[in-house]
Amino acid sequence: MIAINTETRMIGLLGYPLKHSYSPSMQNAAFRKMGLNIIYMPIEVSEENLGDVIKGISKMNFDGFNVTIPHKVNVIKYLDEVDELAEKIGAVNVVAIQGGRLKGYNTDGQGFLKSFEVGTGESAENKSILIIGSGGASRAISMTMAVSGAKNIYICNRTIEKAVELAEDINKKTGRSQIASALKYSGLKEILAGIDILINTTSIGMHPDTDALPIEKELLHKELIVCDIVYNPLKTKLLKEAQKVGCQTLTGISMLVYQGAEAFRIWTGQAPPIETMFASIERLISTK
Ligand code: NAP
Repeated sequence: MIAINTETRMIGLLGYPLKHSYSPSMQNAAFRKMGLNIIYMPIEVSEENLGDVIKGISKMNFDGFNVTIPHKVNVIKYLDEVDELAEKIGAVNVVAIQGGRLKGYNTDGQGFLKSFEVGTGESAENKSILIIGSGGASRAISMTMAVSGAKNIYICNRTIEKAVELAEDINKKTGRSQIASALKYSGLKEILAGIDILINTTSIGMHPDTDALPIEKELLHKELIVCDIVYNPLKTKLLKEAQKVGCQTLTGISMLVYQGAEAFRIWTGQAPPIETMFASIERLISTK
């Protein structure tokens, strides 16, 4: 147990609401494991108070903070600097404070990529990727996969206009004019045979509607690596169906852990204790 004293450093989590966040348990377990005198603190903050809270934090003994819904985009205007990938994604979920300066990062996409590389032994390079959904998580993942050498990225979304907008943004910001394209659900059948990686970034299949599938199971084939970023339940219906077909699969918990692990690395400069972070989240989900 680490004593709180005048040397204690702090890391915040700014968002609203925060009741269901796993990050405080995961990060505090990691700091304890590494014997670091750092405390991770949830701070519920409304839109109108965000600027004042950040200003206060920057004058205190904070080394940084996480940013979550609904502030990932709005936070940018309060920062001194934003790293290149976060700039492309257009959202920040990690801020580091050094010498009073605030620098923003986005570890959601990197967290997914790292979990993908570790979990499957594969990389994004030269892969054809199908992403279902075009919300915040999809934006981070698709932009990261695009800058990491993916061959092409199809974005399929219920609201097709949002998929078109995201695909255009990726093409513009990566300077690879044909890398991303939007796709309607009706077009899935035609392209799936040529897809290497399928990623569900919608909330379909999430508790309590655990029987729902983001894509018809008949469309799955065994050459696909199927990833679901939904982490409650730990193994979604999509992953179960994919395993029946013989696909390699990746659960959402690994993205959750690795986005936190990348944040830990940014704040502390140390290698994160991955196993401790996994165990902390698995404990929380299994008791839900
Ligand atoms: P978001 O910005 O609200 O986006 C939600 C996406 O899901 C949109 O594309 C939306 O389509 C689609 N969608 C929702 N319900 C749908 C339905 N019934 N049928 C078809 N499409 C539907 O949310 P987000 O922040 O990207 O998060 C999405 C999911 O990822 C959540 O379950 C979240 O818990 C999970 N997540 C996991 C991690 C992790 O670390 N594993 C990280 C972030 C998020 P429309 O545009 O048509 O509304």
